[in-house]
Amino acid sequence: MNIEEVRADFPILDQNINGRPLVYFDNAATGQTPTKVIDSISDYYREENANIHRGVHYLSQKATDAYEEARAKIKDYINAAQIEEIIFTSGTTMGINLVANGLNSRLKKGDEIIISTLEHHANIVPWQMLCDRTGAVLKVIPLHRDGTLDMITFHKMLNDKVAVVAISHISNTLGTINPIKEIINAAQGVAALTLIDGAQATPHMKVDVQELDCDFYVSSGHKMYGPTGVGFLYGKKNRLMELDVYQGGGEMIDQVTFKKTTYAELPHRFEAGTPNIAGGIGLGYAIDYINEIGLNNIADRENELLQYAMEKMSDFDDLIYFGQAKNKASVISFNVEGVHPYDIGVILDKMGIAVRTGHHCTQPLMDYYEIPGTIRASFSFYNTFEEIDLFIAALKKAIDMLK
Ligand code: PMP
Repeated sequence: MNIEEVRADFPILDQNINGRPLVYFDNAATGQTPTKVIDSISDYYREENANIHRGVHYLSQKATDAYEEARAKIKDYINAAQIEEIIFTSGTTMGINLVANGLNSRLKKGDEIIISTLEHHANIVPWQMLCDRTGAVLKVIPLHRDGTLDMITFHKMLNDKVAVVAISHISNTLGTINPIKEIINAAQGVAALTLIDGAQATPHMKVDVQELDCDFYVSSGHKMYGPTGVGFLYGKKNRLMELDVYQGGGEMIDQVTFKKTTYAELPHRFEAGTPNIAGGIGLGYAIDYINEIGLNNIADRENELLQYAMEKMSDFDDLIYFGQAKNKASVISFNVEGVHPYDIGVILDKMGIAVRTGHHCTQPLMDYYEIPGTIRASFSFYNTFEEIDLFIAALKKAIDMLK
């Protein structure tokens, strides 16, 4: 990987913040967008903008083709068996809500839904709401202190009442890569549906939904160097057809009369209304970009950055780390003893360094560690070792100022 060339693809990285070169270490919140993707969006509005699936006219056809091409790119990217198994959503959050709402008439009182202690709120709240609607009960896999799931307890939690197991592929706060293949296999043993929250996985590693054999897999475009407001839900065809339809409106229908409406086939059945057409097309270009760089190259580079940062950070003696799984993505969550994470974040920002501080939409995980939040530095392949050096120097300064 030629890092100079790669960085030139991301114009946003080349700027000063508060008089210092930007160091962007908030990649777990959102990835930056390469020129190729930015151009695809402005080109769409400049040359192709039209509503899709509806018009016979040239622009509508062109926009439809581009949007459907993007769907095919997503299908190939995660190795889905069929194109109609890819539903465009506004992101991971919508994908999970779509499935949780789709189970309204299927779940009943006393059924169990298993999630884990390290889930993002997006993979907690929709299930709680489903429990409220149906009388199902939420069960939570406990965590070990190192940020790995207590798999022995998980296996004991499985029984015939478990209807859904919904787990993140990678923790956004801790970086833990969860043993989802083992979880999916075990869930299948009690005929539970499986949903994997892949928001943190699809930008960094090869995902093969057929090999995983999960029922549903969701992710967001903006984590994958694509635009915000677009994402996808993968579902096995038969599983999607078993869901209640989520939203009603244009596009998702077959026939409408005032007496009765019949619904469209997959994938349109779950795509009511005019979608984020430019966003979908942009996501397709983001996938092209990832493929050009190569997922293996991305994973190797991010792992090198993680190791380098961890080594440099080991010089500090007052840092407390959260998430020390062996199998871990390029995320470092930590606190400085006796200092509020927010204060560190503000000082780092003054020095041009973007990290995230707070609960990272994982309040129950913060409760588990009995902390208000952490400082999270998350790296992407376009980051550099020099940026890590700047971060380390800035962190030293911040600690000196606050202690
Ligand atoms: N799950 C995980 C693991 C995430 O990291 C995120 C984004 N922080 C989400 C869900 C929600 O994604 P979005 O806000 O794009 O819907």
